[in-house]
Amino acid sequence: MTDLSGRVALVTGASRGIGAATARRLAAAGAAVALTARSGEAIQQIAGEINAGAGRAAAFACDVGDFAAVQATVAACTSELGPIDILINNAGMLEPIGAPHEINPEAFMANLRVNVGGALAFAQGVLPGMLERRAGTLVNISSGAAHSPLEGWAAYCTAKAALHMLTRSLAHAYAGHGLRIYGFGPGVVDTRMQEVIRGSGIGPVAKLKRSDLAPVEHPAQVIAFLCSEAAADLAGQELSIRDPDLMRRAGLEAA
Ligand code: NAP
Repeated sequence: MTDLSGRVALVTGASRGIGAATARRLAAAGAAVALTARSGEAIQQIAGEINAGAGRAAAFACDVGDFAAVQATVAACTSELGPIDILINNAGMLEPIGAPHEINPEAFMANLRVNVGGALAFAQGVLPGMLERRAGTLVNISSGAAHSPLEGWAAYCTAKAALHMLTRSLAHAYAGHGLRIYGFGPGVVDTRMQEVIRGSGIGPVAKLKRSDLAPVEHPAQVIAFLCSEAAADLAGQELSIRDPDLMRRAGLEAA
């Protein structure tokens, strides 16, 4: 199993789904974990469970679209757990769902603010320290939607495509500074976001049955692997859980 002892990790969108599983996984690998999301009670509860076991965690309620709050959150995490070695930019939202000519442009921009702006704001919070220490890992959670348009998802696809270019821009800017920066597409995973998609009835993903979806533990395991030195050769890339070699290296059977 990946060993992240002595590291401090910050996971956004850690109140449920992939983010909660990732926080648990990183803690199980030995990292001290800062959980953030808007749902303060949910992250407190998960942090409490981690602390009641062998791990160390703390919860910091934060809306990633509130950029001033993001800076305050990074400062609070650092003062409680220490300098942040690992950032998982996982917080994300799907809505608005609808044809491009129908969606509200304000809702479109609100989606970009969370999915892209929030990731940039958290990266800006941790990068100065990482650059000073010449060490750090940053994983932006991507999606197949970054690379192909999907019916009803113009906002989400646009945001994830922008996040993909942000990942590339960060990797381009900081390669050679000791940082490892990845994009990672988690596949179709059994979370509340997929409930929203099924509920909408729009597009091909809405037709998937729950039994077609992967458990949250699968992407969490790959993300933990990306945080380890063993994944250093993959830095700078956008990776997908659909890559059988990556699955094997992360200790998962290829689906
Ligand atoms: P989820 O269960 O809906 O979880 C989304 C997380 O993001 C929650 O913890 C939520 O917390 C947080 N979040 C949303 N808006 C936020 C905001 N304004 N500020 C702070 N936190 C916010 O979805 P998920 O499937 O686990 O998604 C996690 C990531 O994986 C997302 O980036 C998503 O795009 C990506 N992804 C998922 C799938 C899939 O099949 N599930 C596929 C490809 C990519 P609060 O509501 O408590 O704030």
